Amino acid sequence: MKFGEMFSKYLHDEDEAFLHNCSHVEYKKLKKVLRGCRVCRAVKVDEDFDADLDPDPDHQRTGGLIKKREAIGKENESDSLLSAEAIAEKDRQELSEFWSCDQCALCDEKFFSELAREASEVAGCFSSRVRRLLHLHVAPGGIQRYMWKLRHCFTDDQQVMVQEGRLLLDYVTMNAIAIRKILKKYDKVHRSVTGRNFKTEMHAKRIELLQSPWLIELGAFYVNFTGSDIGEPGEFFRKFSCDLSGAQPVMSMTFSDSIKYEYSLTCAVCLDTVFNPYALSCGHLFCKSCACSSASVLIFQGLKTASKKAKCPVCRSVGVYCDAVCMQELDLLLKNRCKDYWRERLREERAEMLKQAKEYWEYERSAFLGF
Ligand SMILES: [Zn+2]
Ligand SMILES: [Zn+2]
Ligand SMILES: [Zn+2]
Repeated sequence: MKFGEMFSKYLHDEDEAFLHNCSHVEYKKLKKVLRGCRVCRAVKVDEDFDADLDPDPDHQRTGGLIKKREAIGKENESDSLLSAEAIAEKDRQELSEFWSCDQCALCDEKFFSELAREASEVAGCFSSRVRRLLHLHVAPGGIQRYMWKLRHCFTDDQQVMVQEGRLLLDYVTMNAIAIRKILKKYDKVHRSVTGRNFKTEMHAKRIELLQSPWLIELGAFYVNFTGSDIGEPGEFFRKFSCDLSGAQPVMSMTFSDSIKYEYSLTCAVCLDTVFNPYALSCGHLFCKSCACSSASVLIFQGLKTASKKAKCPVCRSVGVYCDAVCMQELDLLLKNRCKDYWRERLREERAEMLKQAKEYWEYERSAFLGF
C-alpha cells in the first residue's frame, strides 16, 4: 500500500476521540501543491509521482530526462530561427534547471510554511498529551510508591494508560513519516536538496518529531512497565529497549520496519550516564547538575533561573533552559536499572547542592554585612 493511502486510512480509522483535538500533517494537500508545481509539470513527473518505492531512483531520473529532452526537441523544431549554438545553450540551461531547482516560488510559499506550522502543532500536541499521561503516573514519593500504584491500579486503568501511549506513538510516527515522505517528494519533483535541508532546519527549530524528549519519556515509561512484574510482554513492548551495560548507554525505539532510533543517554558534560536528567529545548540531555553548571546557576536555584543567553554545551543554542523538560520516567528507569550508580550520583548531587548553598549564603551574608 502506498503511504498516502496508509496515512488516509490511519486518519480515518484512528479513534476519533483521540484525533479530535490533534492536528496532523495535511499530506494530501501538500501533495497537491507539489502536483500543481510548474517545474514538475514541465518534466511530467506527475506520471510516476506516486512511485515512492522505486528500487532504482536513476530509472525515474533517466525516464524524466528523456521526456525532457523530447519536450525540448519539439520546442526547438518550431524555433528554426535560433542558431545551433543558441539551441545547445538553451538545451543546457533547461537541462540544468531540470536537474536542480533550489527555489520554487510557487511551491515554497505554500509548502514549507504550511509544513512547519503543521509539524510544530503536532509536536506541541504530542508533548502536551504525553506530559499529561505521564504526570498521572510519576507521582512524587519515589519508585516504591510508583510501583505500588502500578500494581494496585485497576487492570483497566493500566490498559487505558498503555493504549493511550500506543495511540500517541502511532500519532507521532505516522506524522513523522508523512513529513519525511513529503519532503522526499519535494526534492524528487524539484531535483533539489531543499527538502533535505528543511529537515535539518526542523531539527534546529525543535519541531523534528522523532527527536522529542517526550518520546524518550514515553519509551522509558514502557521500559519501566515491562521491567515491573505486571509488565505485559508482547509485540508492542518490544519496540522499546534500553541498554545500559555498555560504554554508550542507549535507549532504542523501533518506529517502523525502516525507522529505528537510538537515543544516547550519555551526558556530554560529565561523559557518564545522565542522572536526574533534563532535556533542554534543543533536545540535548544532561544531568541536572551538569546543565546547571553549564548555565552558571546553582542546583538549588534550578534551570528556570538560567539566563536567556546561556547556551547549550552541545549545539550552542540560546534560550534552551527555561523550558527544559525534567525526564522523570527516564530517571525512574535509571534508578531501577543502575541502583548503585544512581545512589552514588544522588549522594554526590546532594553534597554538591549543600556546598553550593553554603557558599551562596556565606556570600549573601558577607555582602549584606559589607565584609
Ligand atoms: Zn515547485
Ligand atoms: Zn552530566
Ligand atoms: Zn543543544
